[in-house]
Amino acid sequence: MKIVYAIYGASGYGREVLPLLKRQFNLSNENLFFIDDAKNESAAIVNSIPVLNYQRFLNLEADCKNVVVAIANSRIREDLSKKLIEDGMQLISVEADNIVKYDEVSIGSSSIISAFVTLTSNISIGESFQANIYSYVGHDCVIGDYVTFAPAVKCNGNVIIEDHAYIGTGAIIKQGTPSRPLRIGAGAIVGMGAVVTKDVPPGVTVIGNPARPFSKEALRNERK
Ligand code: UDP
Repeated sequence: MKIVYAIYGASGYGREVLPLLKRQFNLSNENLFFIDDAKNESAAIVNSIPVLNYQRFLNLEADCKNVVVAIANSRIREDLSKKLIEDGMQLISVEADNIVKYDEVSIGSSSIISAFVTLTSNISIGESFQANIYSYVGHDCVIGDYVTFAPAVKCNGNVIIEDHAYIGTGAIIKQGTPSRPLRIGAGAIVGMGAVVTKDVPPGVTVIGNPARPFSKEALRNERK
């Protein structure tokens, strides 16, 4: 039985996921591929791994194709995941071997938990979560589907993060309470280094300390 593994996205994050995948499944470079639609020359090699475009990967002879989507843009991630499932691939989760996970932590399918991530107690996480290096999630947090953490996100306890939210590098999210969790709405974006002290409405981008909605107009006025 021929089993192949692939990382969708041969860019920066994909290369960071490669060592995790190899270690987790004890893989050599054989039967291991990147899928990338922008690098379609037949001879492309990234970090010693062949890069195939999707069609070429689809045409590959194998009994089982395991794929992890290592792309930070959650909408692209969702579209590609749907396409992969429709085409009969298996979506897999990848976890670094040095993550810390306490009691009652559930993580949905096709997630990537990078090195030094800490998930403490009683945490529920949806599908296709990406937690980049050094991020943490505190107790009683509830995280939706297709949520993305850049490196070193500090998400304190009793926080709800809805689907497709993106949390930038080094952002700090204040803890909520059991009766009033702090909520980051669906599709919201938290800028790099932001200090989030209150709820962020769905679709809104916040930046700064304390984090406030980002407005291009306010920024233009500041520059004058
Ligand atoms: N990509 C792809 N198919 C798509 C969308 C993206 O193959 O439909 C690839 C893209 O060519 C790039 C990678 O995925 O090489 C995404 O990399 P990006 O620089 O956007 O992000 P990062 O590596 O930081 O996640």
